[in-house]
Amino acid sequence: MQTTRKFKTIFYVMNAIAAIILIVGYFTGKTDYDIEGEEIVNQETKLPEVIEPEYIVMKIPKGGSIYQLLTDMGISNTEIARFTKFMGEYVDFTSLQIGDIVKSKFREETIIDTVQVRDSIVVKTITRKILDELIYQPDVITSHILKNYGDSLNYKLDILPFETKRRVVQGTVTKSLNASLIELGFETHIRQQIIKPLESAISFETDAREGDLFEVYIEEKYYQGKLLPQAVILYASYEGKKVKKKEAFRFYDEKDDSALNGMYTPEGKALVTGAVRTPLDYMHVSSGFGNRIHPISGKWKFHQGIDYRGKTGTPVYAVANGKVVSSGVNGGYGKEVRIRHDDMVTQYAHLHQIFVKKGTTVRKGTKIGTVGTTGYSTGPHLHFGLMKKGKWINPKNLKMIGATELKNQKLEDFKIQKQTIESELDTMRSR
Ligand SMILES: [Zn+2]
Repeated sequence: MQTTRKFKTIFYVMNAIAAIILIVGYFTGKTDYDIEGEEIVNQETKLPEVIEPEYIVMKIPKGGSIYQLLTDMGISNTEIARFTKFMGEYVDFTSLQIGDIVKSKFREETIIDTVQVRDSIVVKTITRKILDELIYQPDVITSHILKNYGDSLNYKLDILPFETKRRVVQGTVTKSLNASLIELGFETHIRQQIIKPLESAISFETDAREGDLFEVYIEEKYYQGKLLPQAVILYASYEGKKVKKKEAFRFYDEKDDSALNGMYTPEGKALVTGAVRTPLDYMHVSSGFGNRIHPISGKWKFHQGIDYRGKTGTPVYAVANGKVVSSGVNGGYGKEVRIRHDDMVTQYAHLHQIFVKKGTTVRKGTKIGTVGTTGYSTGPHLHFGLMKKGKWINPKNLKMIGATELKNQKLEDFKIQKQTIESELDTMRSR
């Protein structure tokens, strides 16, 4: 509501400004005629310009979405769906953050429609808002621009020139690694990039000690001399009284969306980097993995997955990048989707709706269906299973997805990248 009101105010103000310009233009735009009668237009008095609609700038509020912002502005659901679906092809909306900027430009269109009412024809005018442009700015340098040309939409990515700088940071653990990183001024998402991969090699809860050493090699972006929030950790190491030196190296595999991008051990084994999301936004476990009395047969049965409570229609997401290996009704599992991720398969069962077909490549966060109660089920829930090499395993091991070893050419590429990082580190340390 607030946004709508704000928008209306802006609109009225804009109209008022336009009116003032027109009036001022009328009174000051006197023209002089010379002897020959040719019109001389006074230099200072230009004709009033046509005012381009201005961008309405909004920020993603807590718990909000682009969808919500546009709905509040009075854009129709079909129009929003058309825009967001198209943009979804280019933008990873799962990484939407509170405070991200959304700019939009739109105009009002009035259609005159005639309706036959009994013997007479009634003329109706319908006013609707047309979204002309939508810009999503996850940061000050990046703009995802979507333009509406009526029948077609056009996408453009605009990145302002930025500078990258790399630096080495060494530190000593006082309370915890996280606390030390906070003291050094690292933002949450950067700390995660450091802690997550190391965490899969070190048990910080039991083995971290005061005085342990860490080192971080970070690449940061600057725009007009100002540090930007996003940064990439190229290397991280930890060595302590109870922990032998553990190292994590960044591997970049050609494309930004490659599932192989991430942190690896010096030998090329993947370290967990949070490449997995949860299948539901809110997780309420109603039944875990292991022996339980089956709710329908009443017999003890091994439950080969985790059940998450959820209302019918709640979106279900792919937990990681992968390929749909089956989609459709599968016996007691009801409507089910299975997705392969390297040597693992994730299963989403009892779905109400399915949005993906067999053979489709999905990304982490792709909406694959909705929670339902199809098959042998006593109520709406998501049965989530994880299979490794043909055997159901506890989905709590989900973070193992993507934890693969680099092989052949990829391993060779990694070794070269690792050497570059190591030699850069050597020169930086000796400064
Ligand atoms: Zn289940």
